[in-house]
Amino acid sequence: MNLATVCETGPVDSRSRAVRTPAGRFARAGVEWALARGRSRLYQSGSQFRILRKVSFKPGADESVDMEVQNVTADAEVFTCNAYLVSGAEPTLVDAGAMSGVVDVVREHTDELSRVVLTHQHGDHVGELDAVLSAFDPDLYAYGDHPERTHTLQDGQELTVGAEAFEVVYTPGHADDHVSLVGEGALFSGDVVVYNDGAFDDGSFGRTDYPGQSREQLVESIEHLLDRLPGSVDRLYAGHGDVYRGDVRGVVERALERARRREPKYPDE
Ligand SMILES: [Zn+2]
Repeated sequence: MNLATVCETGPVDSRSRAVRTPAGRFARAGVEWALARGRSRLYQSGSQFRILRKVSFKPGADESVDMEVQNVTADAEVFTCNAYLVSGAEPTLVDAGAMSGVVDVVREHTDELSRVVLTHQHGDHVGELDAVLSAFDPDLYAYGDHPERTHTLQDGQELTVGAEAFEVVYTPGHADDHVSLVGEGALFSGDVVVYNDGAFDDGSFGRTDYPGQSREQLVESIEHLLDRLPGSVDRLYAGHGDVYRGDVRGVVERALERARRREPKYPDE
């Protein structure tokens, strides 16, 4: 095992006011974040940034390991959202789902879960949350109030999910407390944008026909999401339906067009 300090420099991306690192990640100045193999600290001075990174590596090891994501509720026979277990320095569960036994599925992959991040708190996303919290005692990140919440999510905040840095984007409309997680390679979209579901294929979105929901607000949220979505994102992990690999911006754009046309998602809407 070796330890090295790597210094990287480059321009700050003024469009997003974020810093895009040579490794393709982004971060905010002064923020320390975990990489797959170490921790980095970012320094910003004017329009330039500098990164000090402590890297530990085994000689000859593959340095390009992809972030691994498992849908741990894939075998559910009850109505649940997709719950995604993301491996890395911060093993993270994005939503807990509502499938009893999800704790056992998580345990098949990891003994340690450092955080649970909630996209929102509808029942199909939090039904098994208490069981997950008592099994692994992770930190709980949520935008909306929750008695077990340890960290409040805010729009624009940076958050490590598994091995990669994500930006929290507040995306209400389907739910008041909804956030999406935007990375350089992946998007966790909760119920705001869905690749496919029973209603639409190749660009669907969360329902907005219940009290307190708003299609107008959802449309604005998808617009914000698109503004902040790098073109490099090629994996979409949505709260329902299939995982999508490919041009994620295209899927989000098609969902936006459909939502803008006020296409009813369900016959009674
Ligand atoms: Zn929902």
